[in-house]
Amino acid sequence: MFRELSRTISSAPSLKELLKVLAQRTAAHCGTEVCSIFLWDPSGDQVVTMTSQTASGEEIDLHPAQPKAPGRLMVDDMPLLAATAERRSPIVLDNPVASPLVPPRWVEVYHVKSLISVPLMWQNSVIGALVLHRIGATKGFTDSQIHLASNIASQVAMAIENARLVQATQARLRESETLLAVSQSVSSTLDLKETLQRVAREAALAAGADSSGAYLLDPREGVIRPFASQNLPDWVSEPFQRNPFSVKAFPLVQEAFDKRVPVYSSDVPADPRCAHPAIRRLAFKSCLIAPMIAKEKFIGVLFLVWWEKSHTFTSDQVRLMEGVARQAAMAIDNASAYHEIEKLNISLEDKIAKRTRELSEINTALEESHRRLQELDRVKSDFLLNISHELRTPLTAIKGSVDNMLDEITGPLSELQRRYLMRVKVNADRLVRLINDLLDLARIEEGRVQVTPTFFSLAGLASELLETLRPVAAEKGLELSLAEGQDPLIVHADRDKAGQVLMNLLGNAIKFTPSGGSVNVELAGDEDAFARVQICDTGDGIPPEQLPRIFDKFYQVQLGIQAKAVGTGLGLSIAKGLVELQGGRIWAESQLGQGSTFCFTLPRRPLAELRGAAVSGDARSDR
Ligand code: ADP
Repeated sequence: MFRELSRTISSAPSLKELLKVLAQRTAAHCGTEVCSIFLWDPSGDQVVTMTSQTASGEEIDLHPAQPKAPGRLMVDDMPLLAATAERRSPIVLDNPVASPLVPPRWVEVYHVKSLISVPLMWQNSVIGALVLHRIGATKGFTDSQIHLASNIASQVAMAIENARLVQATQARLRESETLLAVSQSVSSTLDLKETLQRVAREAALAAGADSSGAYLLDPREGVIRPFASQNLPDWVSEPFQRNPFSVKAFPLVQEAFDKRVPVYSSDVPADPRCAHPAIRRLAFKSCLIAPMIAKEKFIGVLFLVWWEKSHTFTSDQVRLMEGVARQAAMAIDNASAYHEIEKLNISLEDKIAKRTRELSEINTALEESHRRLQELDRVKSDFLLNISHELRTPLTAIKGSVDNMLDEITGPLSELQRRYLMRVKVNADRLVRLINDLLDLARIEEGRVQVTPTFFSLAGLASELLETLRPVAAEKGLELSLAEGQDPLIVHADRDKAGQVLMNLLGNAIKFTPSGGSVNVELAGDEDAFARVQICDTGDGIPPEQLPRIFDKFYQVQLGIQAKAVGTGLGLSIAKGLVELQGGRIWAESQLGQGSTFCFTLPRRPLAELRGAAVSGDARSDR
């Protein structure tokens, strides 16, 4: 018997089926007509009749008068079961008619002649009872039958617990599978509609619901709108699209939001919380509403519907739906965050594109104006060149005539005439200088200046020029000096042009140094590839903010102390152009009231040679 029992236990498809077989076998083995198995409901005041079988395998309905709650008995209606649980040992009744433990109607209907009720014990608690009763014979139960019934009862209790365990494990497994499927749906797509459709499908599948839907809350209007659904015909959801449910008008939804857990109704038609006319019209039997909450925010509800059959909800199921709804809420929250980011990205991209367009337009405009400026510059240089040539010829004629007149070739001059003629000569000379400067600059800018480098001694050139200028300096009471290094410095440059530069810088130094001062020329060959010429004076100096501009064309320092009219403001631009044409560099250092130092460099070897020798290919970086 026991081997047979354990085979049955392991192969039965469900607990109910298992108990049916066990009841029938027990009845047969114990030699009684009927065996019933009752289990305590977790509530404690009800028992569930799991099965009632005859030895020949017939099912007996123990509750024909209770169609509303099939298979359920109130404990008070069946004192025998309460007594069995209380005593925790078999109760044998050989004459049940006389016992207060069995309702007389029961004895009558089922012709109970004798019975034995054995508690089903698991881990020291009573989980139910196994009741054997005899219909025909008046014979009582023998001790060995009672013993056998007790043994079978402990096997049955174990089988029941095992089956419950398996059921619970399977339920957990299903729960995890559902949650996993939902979480996969949630993470696999950013399309919210598709995600929620999948979530609704998984939820309906897991809960055994006929239809399901995800409704989103519109907090401004206090309504929920259908968003995605599973197995909901259009005629059901469409009216709700047009006239969404007001949360207030559907108390079950409000309750779900208030309690923040899923709420359900097993009997919708009789439930006052589902009295909404639209719900009544749809006439479904049961429903569950799980609130979707993300980051403490109500997002909507997950709605499960059972159309035809009313559904008995278990706490496991409710918990599972809570988890599913939470995941759905997260999905919605993520998707809306994503859409916000996307919106932000799009507007950023728009802005960047607009700015890029604007910048490129500005760039084009700048390029155009640069091109026009270059063009104007070229036109101006051309003009300067032409006009200078045109001016120089008549000026030369004027100068020649004035000189002749001053030499009295045209006859003797009165003192007044001589004074006037001298003034004409000075101004004509200034004009010639100006024109020459303009011509030089225009030629440099046009790239028309020819440079002819030769090796020459810097000291030779410097002393030559200093000698030329010495009378002028002496006249002004200035001291001129030259400091050459120990080795004679030979440079490879255009001697005339180098002389022009040095002459210009010396001229400025003399011009801008008050009498009693000094001008000193220093030559240095401390750099391998270039020689440096340095002209230091003890003049007024140049204010630091104007220093960067002194090499600009026509720029003259605004000090109010210098004789502005004396110069043209072109000398330093020409000097810069000539130095750079020869591969050198020119700069100035000065402090107001402390004199100025002008420096320029010239190559010591042919430029091509220097460039070839420079590792980086940039000879300037060697200086
Ligand atoms: P300019 O014909 O006026 O001398 P430059 O181009 O040679 O024109 O010089 C530009 C300006 O730089 C001068 O007007 C002067 O203000 C200033 N400058 C040049 N050299 C010196 C110097 N050694 N000391 C003070 N200021 C100087």
